[in-house]
This record gives sequence, structure tokens and C-alpha cells, in this order.
Amino acid sequence: MRYDGCKRNRGVRPLSDCLFCKIVEGTIPSRKVYEDDSVIAFHDIQPQAPVHLLVIPKKHIATMNDCEEQDQMLLGHLLLSAQKIAKEAGLAEGGYRLINNCGRDSGQVVFHIHWHILGGEKLGPLNA
Ligand code: IMP
Repeated sequence: MRYDGCKRNRGVRPLSDCLFCKIVEGTIPSRKVYEDDSVIAFHDIQPQAPVHLLVIPKKHIATMNDCEEQDQMLLGHLLLSAQKIAKEAGLAEGGYRLINNCGRDSGQVVFHIHWHILGGEKLGPLNA
């Protein structure tokens, strides 16, 4: 699976306006914990738990609703990467929450698909 350089913008915003594309390109700094050909993970800038990481594809996809059949391998790889990243962050034993917000009502604010990894303490109810 190769990074396609965000050539296909299937999202809501132009790529020049995408914060996470800029993090992928390195024009905005991040505290990166993982990178391979198609995925990167970094610390959330406003952590909501002792460990709060974001896992994103390098390819620009705005939301879960914008995923297509051809993204199947990428999505599977991303979830298995999240498992590996969570283990490396020491969360395997206690467990963790893996969250994808999709669209306005979910509270999604960055329209480049991403999964939150939250852990390091006993988490409260989802909708608290
Ligand atoms: P969303 O609500 O699911 O879209 O989550 C977006 C997340 O991105 C939030 O938890 C923000 O704190 C996080 N975030 C926004 N800007 C940055 C950044 O520059 N670096 C790392 N995380 C960021």
C-alpha cells in the first residue's frame, strides 16, 4: 500500500486547508509515535486521557462516509496499526478506546479521517 500523495481529494475541504495533510507532509509539526508507508500516528494536541493518540491514513479521506471499496486494505491496515501503536503505548493490558468521529453530529472537527486511541486510566461513559 503506497501513499498516493493526497492526489485525490474526496473530502469536504480543499487539501491546502487540511491540517492533517500538513502534519503528514511535515509542514505542521507533530509528536509522531508511528509511521509507515500509508499511516502515521501522533499525540493529540489536547489530550482527553493520559494517553491520547491519533492514527490517520496519509491519504486524504475526509470522513468514514467518504471511504470506498478500494480503501478496504488501507482501513484494515490502519486498525491493525492502531492495535500495534496501543500496545507500544502500554495500553494492551488495561485496554483502550478506539474512536472515529464521522461528521457534524459526532463532533468531528478535523475532516481528514482519523481514529483516537484513548487510554491510561479507566474511561468514563462514551456520551458523558
Ligand atoms: P475530531 O473531533 O474527531 O475531529 O478530533 C480532532 C482532534 O484533533 C482533536 O482531539 C484535537 O485536539 C486534535 N488536533 C487538532 N489540531 C491538532 C494538531 O495540530 N496536532 C495534534 N492534534 C490536533
